Amino acid sequence: MAKLTFLGAAGTVTGSKYLVEAAGKKLLLDCGIFQGSPELSDRNYKPLPVDPKTFDYVVLTHAHLDHTGWLPVLVKDGYHGPIFANPATIDLTALLLKDSAHLQEEDTLHARKGKYSRHANPESLYTSADIDPVLKLMKPMPRSGGFDVSPEFHFTSYDAGHILGASSLELIITENGKKTVVVFSGDIGRYDEPILKDPITPPSKADVLLCESTYGDREHAAGDPAELLATIVNRVVKRGGSIVIPAFAIGRTQMFMYYLRQLEDQQRIPRVPVYVDSPMALSATDLYLKYKEDLDLEFLREDSGGKGDPLNVHEFHLTRSVEESKSINNVKTPCIIVSASGMVSGGRVLHHLAQRLSDARNAVILGGFQAQGTRGRALQDGAKTLSLFGQQVPVCAEIVDMGQFSAHAGKSELLRWLAGLPTAPGQTYLTHGEPEAAQALQAAMQEKFQWKVAVARYLDTVPLG
Ligand SMILES: [Zn+2]
Repeated sequence: MAKLTFLGAAGTVTGSKYLVEAAGKKLLLDCGIFQGSPELSDRNYKPLPVDPKTFDYVVLTHAHLDHTGWLPVLVKDGYHGPIFANPATIDLTALLLKDSAHLQEEDTLHARKGKYSRHANPESLYTSADIDPVLKLMKPMPRSGGFDVSPEFHFTSYDAGHILGASSLELIITENGKKTVVVFSGDIGRYDEPILKDPITPPSKADVLLCESTYGDREHAAGDPAELLATIVNRVVKRGGSIVIPAFAIGRTQMFMYYLRQLEDQQRIPRVPVYVDSPMALSATDLYLKYKEDLDLEFLREDSGGKGDPLNVHEFHLTRSVEESKSINNVKTPCIIVSASGMVSGGRVLHHLAQRLSDARNAVILGGFQAQGTRGRALQDGAKTLSLFGQQVPVCAEIVDMGQFSAHAGKSELLRWLAGLPTAPGQTYLTHGEPEAAQALQAAMQEKFQWKVAVARYLDTVPLG
């Protein structure tokens, strides 16, 4: 009988990896990296309980590193089959993996020089040289509609409205003439957002549903994001400070850019330089404009309105090299710096925070989910100091938590997405959430829908169908 093993994103928001075994074949859905506490990051260095050499297929829901960032290790460990994803996800994954490898190399070099790592000889999980072998295995699948990965596995993709290319996937498994329907929510985005289309619930009669639960226990704060952002930018600029936004160069960054550009055009904020500090120094706008099918109509109208690039502010700087990145330290007039990683677990944002966190004129905007055990969560929880490069840096800057900029559905949006399914799934497993979030969503679903719902447990194997 077909079965599924939770190799990640069970009891935590990162490390998404679900192994489907049916008809003598093995299919891995997503291959994410664990981020957060040392216990979680250490999992990245341990081999999987099932040998990747025996896997036949990999399929990706979207490009975020907690869904793709472990692919280089999977391939180093012997996986050599195809990695299916839609074209936008392939392009974004290539950028994110290269970025991530560069940042790990920079971090490791730093840690060795500074001798502040908890490891005697810090090693990066992978290097830039490990990325090409992954990219060579990537094969396109359609953005929407059906696709046969093999005679046993048929997928249909639906827009998840989370980042460019993000999908919810329906998988129909055929084994001994019997069909089993499994739905993977992937990461569910938000409704009525600018830029991306709304999430679509697959019209599937699911035997088994895996649903994410990142914000299963909370709603995003209310309030107009543009208005809030304008207030913060004006407040910080007036006192001569700068703003640091921890984020990878793709996804949330475009949302910030979009609002900043609008606010500049409406003269509600002054024009200040915005630095996107990433080794790839990419213009993600190019990618967004390449994959117009993901974009909503309102955004496309603005784009064609002749007012210039709606995803770029007027004073936009891309910084690629470490030297360029460091030179941002010399900018003493108000500016906005967008830099990875989003949960402040590594990357160049550490340098920017080391530089700017102790100055009360500055601000840090946290726009994304901050997992337990990360520096981002510590800042969110009001830490008075932050450990950076072996030093305790006082947190004097203003910390602004802006859930309005999250790329994830809040609790009621998750319930709205679930309510779109035509029938109750035979069994639902909640994944991609910390225990409190998953349990709160479980309770809400049992009360609202009376479905059979369980919280996924790490390394558990469950029957499908
Ligand atoms: Zn995601």
